[in-house]
Amino acid sequence: MLSFMARSTIGTSSEGRKPLRFVLVGAWNTLFWYGTFTGLYWATRPFGVHYLVVLFATHWISLTNAYLCHKYLVFRAMGKISLAEYFRFSLVYAFAFVVNLVTLPLLTNFAGLNPVIAQGLIVAGTVAMSFFGHSNFSFAKWSAAPTEPLFPSATERDLIAPSAEPESTTDTEMPAESRRQLSCPICGSTAASDPEVASATRAEEMSFADLKPHWRGFFKEKVFFSYYRCPHCGMLYCRDYFDDTQMDALYGQMPDNTAGVPLEALKRTQAGYFSILRKHSDLRGEYLEIGPDLGLFLEEAVQRGQFGKYWLFEPNETVRPVLQKIVAQKEHEIFTEMLDFKSLPDHLISTVVLIHVLDHLVDPKAVLVALREKLSASAILLIVTHDEASLLAKLIGRKWPPYCLQHPMLFNPTTIKALLRSAGFDVITVAKVYNHFPAMYLVKHLCWALGLERLSSGTRMGPTIPLKLGNIVSVATPSRGVQKAKGPQSA
Ligand SMILES: [Zn+2]
Repeated sequence: MLSFMARSTIGTSSEGRKPLRFVLVGAWNTLFWYGTFTGLYWATRPFGVHYLVVLFATHWISLTNAYLCHKYLVFRAMGKISLAEYFRFSLVYAFAFVVNLVTLPLLTNFAGLNPVIAQGLIVAGTVAMSFFGHSNFSFAKWSAAPTEPLFPSATERDLIAPSAEPESTTDTEMPAESRRQLSCPICGSTAASDPEVASATRAEEMSFADLKPHWRGFFKEKVFFSYYRCPHCGMLYCRDYFDDTQMDALYGQMPDNTAGVPLEALKRTQAGYFSILRKHSDLRGEYLEIGPDLGLFLEEAVQRGQFGKYWLFEPNETVRPVLQKIVAQKEHEIFTEMLDFKSLPDHLISTVVLIHVLDHLVDPKAVLVALREKLSASAILLIVTHDEASLLAKLIGRKWPPYCLQHPMLFNPTTIKALLRSAGFDVITVAKVYNHFPAMYLVKHLCWALGLERLSSGTRMGPTIPLKLGNIVSVATPSRGVQKAKGPQSA
């Protein structure tokens, strides 16, 4: 909505005036810089303040001024003030500052110039440098702010053209093979009009055959279905997604879900999740886990709980022997159908665990409603999901790893609560949790997020670091007040 209006503005005459605005704002910033420096220098001279202190103060004041001016006068379309944007901006600014920091003492101490004259010369030089930097680097980066794709796709260019009618262009996506159309998974609304996050090449414009290689792998070019935000409940979801046949084919080719993190680090993360379950569950009764994967959480449950029976739903056949080994001494059943709860007894399950499962489903509400029928009145449901509202997601934008083909939707603390309530659950707690990562693994991802793939080829993993990296644990219990959960697709 806002971003569409913004693009329309940029697309017309405003775009042509951007260089002019840039020059004017640049001139103003330069005057502001020099004025602040000179003013502070003369004002603080009687107190013997060193000119480098004045330089630091000038830098900070001018940085904030320049950021606000560029944002609202030059790039007026870019929405709210964001930390990430301010950070990127200050990086560019910092470069000019470092140049200044080196050249001012050189000119003052070695060339013997008065600091004010010296700074005047330096400003003239850095204007040219930052003009080049902002137009070729900051500008380009700013277009890639978290909510905006770097280059407009064909469809988007149509939207920008003054004569285009937005409503008609939205249905003229490239004809793909069968594609599922999703509405908001919480309220069913289809009102979202403009993507909030999109990859440079959008999955909805690619064929299934071309998408297949992008299904897994963090270090390839990112391609995902554009995420839209529901205007009613704030849920972030894809409008286009794979159909059931395609999903079966894709999940069939999955190995485990661990993406190269060493086992020891993964185990510590899972132990952290288990300590949260322990606070709310007596660890007795019947245990149900959907998507246990390598069974790391399950192992905790088996070793530290007193569950009478284990029900496991895991579509990945290759991990079946691993799971069987973990529950070998316990009563158990393992199903390969992911979401077919027919064989489960009604109202008996006491603990349900869904770790990184819910945001892979195309209709999580229907699944939760169906699950609810199988739970005892005091059952505990433990859910781990990514948090799309996390600082990390905001900082790295569309390079945030959970924006990917495997997630038709992504939650935040507000939307996971809304989903649980809509499916007939009371929310007990929603909390940020620690993930344990080897130091080098983090460095790799950081390099990758900054576009420095070539620097990210180390093999040693280093010490393990606990980080709150945008994962949330939600604990819920069937709502007492709801006899039968209401839902459009109640199973
Ligand atoms: Zn909604």
